[in-house]
Amino acid sequence: MTAPVLAVFLDGLGYDGLADMPFLAGQSTVRRIRTELGYSITCHASMYTGLRPDRHGLWFVWQRDAGRSPFRWLRPFRWLDPVDNLPMRLAATKITRRFVRTTSWFGIPYVVNFPWRDMPQLDVSERRLWPEPHYLATAPTIFDRMRAAGLEFEIVGMERRGPRGLAAFEEAPTEATAAGAGVGGNPPALRYLFAGDIDHVSHAHRRHSDEARDVRRRIDAAIERQFAAARRRDPSTELVVWSDHGHHDVERVDPFETFAAHGVDLRRQLTVVDTNFVRMWIPDERRRREVAARLDAVGIGRVMDEPALAGYRCAMPDDRYGNLIFYLDRPRAFSRTIWGFARGLVSAHGYLPDYPESDGVFISTRGVEDRQLQLADVAPSLAGLLGLSMPAGLDGAAAWD
Ligand SMILES: [Zn+2]
Repeated sequence: MTAPVLAVFLDGLGYDGLADMPFLAGQSTVRRIRTELGYSITCHASMYTGLRPDRHGLWFVWQRDAGRSPFRWLRPFRWLDPVDNLPMRLAATKITRRFVRTTSWFGIPYVVNFPWRDMPQLDVSERRLWPEPHYLATAPTIFDRMRAAGLEFEIVGMERRGPRGLAAFEEAPTEATAAGAGVGGNPPALRYLFAGDIDHVSHAHRRHSDEARDVRRRIDAAIERQFAAARRRDPSTELVVWSDHGHHDVERVDPFETFAAHGVDLRRQLTVVDTNFVRMWIPDERRRREVAARLDAVGIGRVMDEPALAGYRCAMPDDRYGNLIFYLDRPRAFSRTIWGFARGLVSAHGYLPDYPESDGVFISTRGVEDRQLQLADVAPSLAGLLGLSMPAGLDGAAAWD
């Protein structure tokens, strides 16, 4: 019988944020964890499979797949392109969301700054939530492995309705919840607490703001309370707390105007603009090189070629995420993206994992090896605590010494 595990995931907590978290900062292990190049979606897949992006295949939310596109029903309406406008795209997304079933974190997001004409080419790369069975076709997650081994787990803070994140941590009747779950009144092998609050408040106020500090303090106190309750039930309970990435202060720049000034019309070809990436699909290689040279000449970021992407383990076997990937470096973030207008965005992530501010954290009551930890180490580490064996050949490894 292995010790129960209290596993806490905190979206967007950078290492410097621990200054406001005395309980977490006081644990045996307080380390940095290297993030992936991309956003939370690729981080989650790495954390829960133990594989890097080029092997688990999840990189961005939006990908090109005309055959699976939830918007393929819009194909006959392409003639409406001349009157393309935002309310039309929002209405089409709203209708689509009604009949395309997804349980994923992002669902089918509203398509904001993106041409009507190209909507039927867009697909979402995930349709399920990571704790659900078969989250990924490419590899089982730690949750799949727990299910297969008959280990119980409880998820706190991810409810669709009702309190989420910090509110759920503070509200969850610590002992009653732990006692209620699991077989025969035993606590589950793993309680997984999820909070996106630190990420949200950082985006809106910057990570060093009073607002962000306050959220970090409250989360620290809530985890301390949850852990104390878990240890009262079972003194051998182990704590693991980690985050997927840190945050960077940013200023907004309009992608369409910026690149138009350098002779690149983002609307000419299929193009998805995320917070700090522009992904294009340009079939003609000569034109692709020409556009790449122009994007590079702007001087605010760079086109990531194959070797660069391979270095970050983000070189994909096909062009579902684009065949021209432009990375916008800090301190800039795009205003008009497929997601919206980024109004009020003052802090962001998705920047190079090499920046220290991009690091997440890895904290535990257990000691770890003296090496650089990475997100793909999370699943093997949890498996190690749970007594689950993991197959050989994963990119990550258990962190424990
Ligand atoms: Zn975020």
